[in-house]
Amino acid sequence: MDITTKLKMNNGKEIHQFGLGVWRGGAETKNAVLAALKAGYRHIDTAAVYGNEEQVGEAIRESGIPRDALFITTKVWNEDMRKHTVKAAFELSLKKLGLDYVDLYLIHWPVKDEYIHTYKVLESLYESGKAKAIGVSNFKTHHLQDLLDHTDIVPAVNQMEFNPQMQDNDILKMCTEKGILLEAWSPLGSGACLNDENLKTIGGSHGKSEAQVIIRWLLQKGIVVFPKSVHENRIIENADVFDFTLNDEEMALINGMNKNLRTGPDPDTFNF
Ligand code: NAD
Repeated sequence: MDITTKLKMNNGKEIHQFGLGVWRGGAETKNAVLAALKAGYRHIDTAAVYGNEEQVGEAIRESGIPRDALFITTKVWNEDMRKHTVKAAFELSLKKLGLDYVDLYLIHWPVKDEYIHTYKVLESLYESGKAKAIGVSNFKTHHLQDLLDHTDIVPAVNQMEFNPQMQDNDILKMCTEKGILLEAWSPLGSGACLNDENLKTIGGSHGKSEAQVIIRWLLQKGIVVFPKSVHENRIIENADVFDFTLNDEEMALINGMNKNLRTGPDPDTFNF
């Protein structure tokens, strides 16, 4: 396993298992993406609502890395689902990114009464070739079952909050059974999972930080992970996770840290 390791999605295409998240990257997004690409990252996770697609696009162009060596994800925001402007939102994302296709396009949140018709638009974007894969985010098991019952293309991924203190193993099991890759958002709990004694001890025995232990734990679980940082030293640190292995005991210890404690909103009660 290394920084370019890819997993096969259910449509036969591949996704880099490790990448960079850019939520709240602010004005530093472009430099963060450039630093990540320099460090060997090839997968960037953004979203229309992050307001930084242009910066991601600028960094891609400036890096000179061929488009087909990169994996770029963006997401449709709730307001466009409610206004039924999903196709226009997708075109705008492409324009801001300066790309003629994205590797993955996701429904950001399961907006009640809106996600089925939205997903049907995503299916048409997939068929047009402008979204090489489509999927969802923040779909609990009941959202996912409803989607599977009413649409044709099984999502390639489901992006959920997943970290040591928030492990939704029901959705992980369902995704595995349906051939849907789980992507972990806020893998570090936006920082809240760090400074833990168990993680510190495990890290100590491998010469690694708590952040590196969490990232490695997710990779070994077969989950896609894109920690966020805008600092070059941390961007490099977070990718330095391919020269050690957590043993079964260490994996079990972290699996046992679940508190069902979200840092973000619950997909059943969010109201934005
Ligand atoms: P994260 O869990 O990756 O944590 C990032 C924060 O942890 C940083 O801001 C920094 O404070 C700290 N950090 C990062 N590396 C560190 C290191 N090596 N040492 C110490 N501290 C470190 O946070 P996130 O941004 O919430 O999640 C990652 C990505 O997931 C996002 O950027 C975004 O792409 C995606 N995401 C998606 C959704 C969704 O609804 N689909 C929601 C949240 C995040």
